[in-house]
Amino acid sequence: MSRFAFFIITLLYFYVLVFWGKIAFFSLLAVGIGLYIYYIYYKKTGRWPWSPASVAVGGSNSPGISESKPKITFADVAGIDEAKEELLETVDFLKNKERYLAVGARLPRGVLMAGPAGVGKTLSAKAIAGEAGVPMIEMAGSSFVDKYVGVGASNIRALFQRAKATAPCIIFIDEFDSLGKRGSEETSAGHEYDQTINQLLVEMDGFSSNEGVVVLAATNRMDKIDEALLRPGRFDVKIYFNRPDVNGRESILKIHTKGKKLSEDVNLKDIAKLTPGLTGADLADIMNKAAIMVGKVGGTEIDQNDILAAKERFVWGKEKRSLIIDQEEKKVIAVHEAGHALLAVLLDHCDPPYKVSIIPRDGSLGITALSPGKERYNVSKEFLCDQMTMLFGGRAAEKVACNTETAGAKDDIERATNMAMAMVCEYGMSEELGPIAVNSGKGGAWDGNVVFQANAQSEVVKLVKGSYDRAQDILTKNIGTLRAIADLLLDRE
Ligand code: ADP
Ligand code: ZN
Repeated sequence: MSRFAFFIITLLYFYVLVFWGKIAFFSLLAVGIGLYIYYIYYKKTGRWPWSPASVAVGGSNSPGISESKPKITFADVAGIDEAKEELLETVDFLKNKERYLAVGARLPRGVLMAGPAGVGKTLSAKAIAGEAGVPMIEMAGSSFVDKYVGVGASNIRALFQRAKATAPCIIFIDEFDSLGKRGSEETSAGHEYDQTINQLLVEMDGFSSNEGVVVLAATNRMDKIDEALLRPGRFDVKIYFNRPDVNGRESILKIHTKGKKLSEDVNLKDIAKLTPGLTGADLADIMNKAAIMVGKVGGTEIDQNDILAAKERFVWGKEKRSLIIDQEEKKVIAVHEAGHALLAVLLDHCDPPYKVSIIPRDGSLGITALSPGKERYNVSKEFLCDQMTMLFGGRAAEKVACNTETAGAKDDIERATNMAMAMVCEYGMSEELGPIAVNSGKGGAWDGNVVFQANAQSEVVKLVKGSYDRAQDILTKNIGTLRAIADLLLDRE
């Protein structure tokens, strides 16, 4: 709404208020509010409520599409070296397309980046644009899928129109899998999905890569992407992003310490070792939290302990020292954690405990953290069995030392059960069933076979029970040590 219109309306209100009295004022107010709601609707959807949905046209300025000129380069992206190589090829296509065209190469139209959230897919798209020195036109996949049939398709049309007008450039579509949210065919969501995908296929087939537009799409659900999109000439380059390994994490941490004041004792290699499984986004968050913590107390430098504290807070939740837990409950919690810790020490295939604490945190009453030994890319049955036994260590200790069972074991039980299910149904590690995939959900031979599922279930129960019994067994034999650890924890909380 223009400022002028606002001014006139305000004047009108005052006029009415003074000369016509309250009734006229309130009815005008009601009309005003109504019009404003329509206006908000227009801003959100790009059309007025009364215009039929199917003729709504996004226009190249349709909401949800944004254009930027990223300054990011591949120096800002670390820890994903294999993916980086392939991404650099795309930069080269954009920069030197003549060289490829001269030898008759067909340039890729679409590059699909797949991997867990926070590993740097969006960052990489920006780096491609930054390195090639071209604008990036961005849109989230979820904004394609509208309640109204045709809006998604017209948004796609608008997206490509704008890209062609801006070329050379890249199109970046985040949450690409939400395009694949297939509703039931009868519902309007089903039709919407088909129209949107079809429009995307039409646009992808219709432009030639000689025009200098490359479509980058990101997803963390590769399995939900429509097959039709992956055919040659469409998204035929697929790049997988993995969680960074220890060296990758170190170099990512290095990037996110730029511009921060670090003290001499900071050792990023050690932090990297202690953060297996974390993504670039997690690490960036930890470094930022560390800086905030230091700033809050008026410190000038971030030291190693600040980063470690930020990491612990990120992984285990914030400490809640103010929570008052009575001595009896506290004792059971100490015994529970001592159970995990003792088993982690005693079991051959378990990494030793690195930190045990009974200070309550946001998500838990106590923690036992195992030191990440080596980076594991594959796990054995022995490892999984020991892992399950260690997980049941908490509950087993409650039973053995306090003759009780608490709800605090919920997460342990859930994790151990999931592990057992994967072992039986996916990894083929059950003695009874052998190496067979049960209910993989991919339409395999045994999917939906009731008898087989029942057998698998009883195998899972057997594994779970076995590990729990084993945990109880070991702890009973070492009850003295278990009690001693628990006392130490209570003592030095
Ligand atoms: P994704 O798109 O894969 O979900 P993002 O690219 O949005 O992840 O990552 C979010 C933020 O996390 C980035 O802006 C960056 O600060 C940090 N980050 C993620 N991965 C990396 C990486 N490989 N190198 C450096 N920083 C990273
Ligand atoms: Zn536990």
